[in-house]
Parts: sequence; structure tokens; C-alpha cells
Amino acid sequence: MTPTRDPSAATRVIHAACPHDCPDTCAIRVTVEGERLIRLQGEPDHPTTHGALCTKVSRYAERNSHPERVLQPLRRVGPKGSGQFEPVGWDEALDDIAARLKAIAARDPQAILPYSYAGTMGFVQGEAMAGRFFHRLGASQLNRTICAEAGATGLALTYGATVGMHLEHFAESRLILIWGSNSIASNLHFWTYAQAAKRAGAKLIAIDPRRTETAEKCHQHIALRPGTDSALALGLMHELVINDWLDHDYLTRHVEGWPELRERALQWPPERAAEVCGITADEVRGLARDYGTTAPVAIRLNYGMQRVAGGGNAARLIALLPCLVGAWRHRAGGLLLSASGWNKPFRNRALERPDLLAGRQPRSINMSTIGDDLLREASPDFGPKIEALIVYNSNPVAVAPESAKVVAGFRREDLFTVVLEHFLTDTADHADYVLPATTQLEHWDVHASYGHTYLLINEPALPPAGQARSNAEIFRQLAARMGFDEPCFQDDDLSLARQAFEVDFDELRRVGWLKLPVPEAPFAEGRFFTPSGKAQACAPGLPLPDHVPNHESAERDPALAQRYPLAMISPPARNFLNSTFVNVKSLRDIEGEPLLEICEADAQARGLADGQPVRVYNDRGEYHCVARVSPRARPGVVNGLGVWWRKLGRNGTNVNQLTHQRLTDLGEAPCFYDCLVEVAPL
Ligand code: SF4
Repeated sequence: MTPTRDPSAATRVIHAACPHDCPDTCAIRVTVEGERLIRLQGEPDHPTTHGALCTKVSRYAERNSHPERVLQPLRRVGPKGSGQFEPVGWDEALDDIAARLKAIAARDPQAILPYSYAGTMGFVQGEAMAGRFFHRLGASQLNRTICAEAGATGLALTYGATVGMHLEHFAESRLILIWGSNSIASNLHFWTYAQAAKRAGAKLIAIDPRRTETAEKCHQHIALRPGTDSALALGLMHELVINDWLDHDYLTRHVEGWPELRERALQWPPERAAEVCGITADEVRGLARDYGTTAPVAIRLNYGMQRVAGGGNAARLIALLPCLVGAWRHRAGGLLLSASGWNKPFRNRALERPDLLAGRQPRSINMSTIGDDLLREASPDFGPKIEALIVYNSNPVAVAPESAKVVAGFRREDLFTVVLEHFLTDTADHADYVLPATTQLEHWDVHASYGHTYLLINEPALPPAGQARSNAEIFRQLAARMGFDEPCFQDDDLSLARQAFEVDFDELRRVGWLKLPVPEAPFAEGRFFTPSGKAQACAPGLPLPDHVPNHESAERDPALAQRYPLAMISPPARNFLNSTFVNVKSLRDIEGEPLLEICEADAQARGLADGQPVRVYNDRGEYHCVARVSPRARPGVVNGLGVWWRKLGRNGTNVNQLTHQRLTDLGEAPCFYDCLVEVAPL
């Protein structure tokens, strides 16, 4: 019998969406028989998913029915961080949590901090009811910077919004620069279009410090040093100017500050750029020739390159390259870093109800400096000490930088911590209460994408496992206990889904997705979203972008670079997504154990052999893993694949034991890939 969408059918298919922090935001077709999951597959009819899910989410059923799922509320019985809990009833847990929060809020609600990110990208189980709860409470606000803020800010300064090309049009490009992106691992559906372009004769060039799975399948790989992308962009601009590979008409009509940018570019001959980047001048010249003499030419930029001190400036410079050659004139030309700005006009700004602040202006805490901030005392500058943390959709003990401080903060006996989770993660181990959350198969949600231009629905396919409740339901019930009696706290999850976007919700449910009305070639005639309507190289109050060296570099700190001569980046292991899926055994078995890729010359200089246990260290700590002597690492750079759960690693740490909390030039984001280390045999 063919499965149908009829809710009364014995076997039925349901529209779902992948909730993970990935630009592809796949549409998923779930087939259930009664309350039994029969099949989970990429939706064949969704244009950019085209029936395929990545290896990770193909195992979603294994994750969903994992024997270690938290299925009932838990209360801490051991020391902080020990992961020792006892089961407790929902009412008892919620009553106690509400009482503790009320007592703190009576002193100052800003002593309570939400901590969440993209564990689910859904609007309902993200910040809908949670936002209402924390706004009504007057809690501290969280500055959600941990992934993309430097690049997003740079992009928005250049184009006026975080917008770019249609994903689908990359298939028609003649040259694609895949810049700072291991697409095969973390943007798989883009790679499908890039391969189509390749089959049609396009050239693919990877720009990445690491020789990734993607880089080795491109025609060329330029392995620059981490944090030097801006220097490469300036070197390319120099060559475009010198050789007059410019679209003068486009520059004159659609770029603000071009004369100033031209002068700056002329200061960056290929030799200078090459020296900073650790590549050859001929590589700079060749890349510029390809870029300046091919059309249509497209750049798929991704967020790896912006996790450094100068990440925002680098994003600005790279985003200007398509303007120099007039690439935006073609629908298969231009750049894509984020498409999230295209869905902004359709979002309901009132979903999180900021009006519930009622004029209060709580302080904002940067999630990337949680290590420092949990250890701060009250002060006039900082405000009250953080007394309570409510964590959902995030695993900060594993993913926030400078873990030693994050752990010390989470271990404070006077910190009250509640974690909404599926599993006992490194963070949940530090909770006073762990509350079991539903998975994507068990709740309503709606999704937008930062990599394509569709909205998607996620309908529940299975009943909640055990006693799990949706995030929205947990915050609704906490709100009731706090005495928040505004009608908006009565909205159920389906109502929240209906409110999230100003679109035809019934049509969204019927089809499963809706395409946003985005122009085919959005900037063919300029019309950027900036005040002038032009792309901004510089403008009143906005200086020209420039190369900004890494915080931890020989340029800024020669003594540090002498002690720790290796630059470490920490890209995601192919089978993990941030820290999600590390506990899925079949995926962890593929990864084996925490690895540090190091090139042969650097390994030999330290007497390291492939497969040897090593200590990776700097002034912030020490991380134990296994050396993988590999051409994936370039000289002077090591790749610490992440993000392992600390408790599943070798010495109870992961790469973030070594990263620091200094921030980027724009967006106040973390600098995970701006980190000097040394490596020695263990
Ligand atoms: S993680 Fe990305 S590629 Fe994998 S299913 Fe989700 S959206 Fe698709």
C-alpha cells in the first residue's frame, strides 16, 4: 500500500525538516506505521534536498532511540559535574526550578541567563516560548555570537543584509571558489550543484588551510595560513586592477568607496599577499587570472575563515570581489555566505515578544565569553553575578572556547543550572536539573535556512519518548509556575509554528516547504540593501576593510609564536555536527578517536609517528589525542578535528581546552581558528 499523508492512515508519510546547524536545511520524508518509525529519507521532491540526507542525519533514527536518551527529569545527587542524578517527577522538578528562579529574580532577574544556540534551528523549539519567558522575566540577554557573527556582520556591512546567490545557480557557474568550506562534510547539497557545474566544464578551486575531502576533489587547492584570507583577497584585487580585469561600469554605478579600495589594493602586490598567506605569488596571480577572466564566476564562502581576529574584515573584502568583476550581473555569479537575510522580511518579529520587557533593558552577555563571565563577581560594570543558567539547544562545556574556565564556571556550587537535553552531554553533567526534551521527530517546528531560500515545516511523526516534553512546553509550564499570566503563554506549539512566519501556513503544511520570492540575479542592477543602494567598500563612518593579523601570530606576538609555533584550526570531524552525534556509536566508530592532523615535516621535527598519542598544549592547557601524519595538514598548521565530547576524549578534554576567548574585529565572535599550540609525544 502506498503511504499517504492522511493522518488516519495506518502507514503515513510526514513532512519534516533537518533541525541541525547546517546551511542545507534538508526536507525530510518520514514514514511511520502507527507509532513506529519505518523510514527516514531526504525528501525527493524538495528542490535542494533532492532525496539525499548526509551520513549523520541518515542515522537520526539511531540517535532518536538511543539507549542513553534522557527520558525523565533528573536531579543532581553528586558533586557538580559528576553526572550523578536521581529521577524526579516533572511537577517536583518544575516547582523547585520556578521557586529557585523566583528567589533569584526577586534580587535581580539579570542574575539569570539563558544559554542557547543552534542545537535545533527551529523557530518554535528555539526562541519562541523561551524568548517570551526570558523577556517577561527580565533575565540577562544572550549575545548569540558563537558561530557566524563576524562573517555575518562583514557581509551585512557590504551588502546591507546577509544575502547572496541562490544555491541552485551554482550549477551554471564556470568557476567556483570554494572558500573556507569543506562542502562535502558540511554543505553537501551545495557540493551536488558544484559537481554539476564541474561536469559541465567549470573549474573548482578550494581555498582552505586544510586539504579537505572537498579540496582534494577540486581542480586546485590553495592552502593558505589561517587568518590570511583578507591578504589573499587584497592580492587578488591588486591583480584585477593591474590587469584591468574590472567591470568599470558596475564599480562606478554600484560600489561605494571604490577609489579608496583601489588605492588599498595597489598596496598588495602578489608577493606581499603570498608572503602573508604562506603560498606562492604565482598562486595569487593564477587565481586572479582565473577569477578575472571567467564568467559567470561564483564564490561559496563559509564560516571557517571568519573565526579569527580579522574575520569580519576578511568577509568584507571577499564579499567585494564579485563587485570588481561584475559577477553579480549573472544569476550564476556572485557569492553565497548566508541566505538568512532573505527570510527576515517574512519572520514575525513579535514571536519572541520583546514587548514583555516592558521598557526594561537587561544587560547582554556574550555567549563566547561564558568562561570568563561565569567567574565574574558582581560589579558596577558587569552587573550582578550570574546565579542561574538555563541551557537549551547548546552544549557550552564542550563547544565554548577556553574550556578550563567554562568548566570552572559550571562547577560553581553557587550556580543553579538547568539543562534541557536529549542526552547527558558534558554540559548536562554539570546541571542541577536535566529536563528531557523531545527530538525533531516528536515535536512541531518551522525552519528557515541560511543556505537556501525555502521555508520548511516539521510535523511530529512520533509521540515523545518516555516523559520528554518539547522546549516550548517546558517554558510554558515554567511560565505558569512563575505566575506569568499573559495570554501569549497559552499558545501551544502548533500556534507558535503558525505565528513564526507571515506566509500561508496551510500551504506550508500541505507542501512541506515554500520558496521565498528572491530575484534570480539579485544585484544585477545593484540595489543592495545599504543606505546608498551600493555595495560598501567604505562609507561615512565605515572605514575601508584591511588585513588584520591573528591575535596569536608572529606579527602580533613574536614571543608567543616562538613558544607555540603551530597554528591550530579545529574544523568539524566529518561525521559530527558541532558536538551533536558524537555519542552515536556508529558515527563515532567511523571517526575512531580524537585526531590531530599534522604534516610530515612538522611531525618529523617533533619525532612524531602516525598513530602516536600526543599532547597538544599552550598556556591555556593540554589536550590529548592521536597524531595523524597527513597531507591534509599544511606546514605550520595542525588540524584538531572537533568537537568531541570531553568525557569521550582521552584526558577528559577536547580542542577547546586550547582555544581562547578573545573576539573578532566585527560581531564580537570567537576566534576558534586563531590559536597557537605546540605538539609533543605523550
Ligand atoms: S545536517 Fe545538513 S546535509 Fe545533513 S540532513 Fe541536515 S541539513 Fe541535510
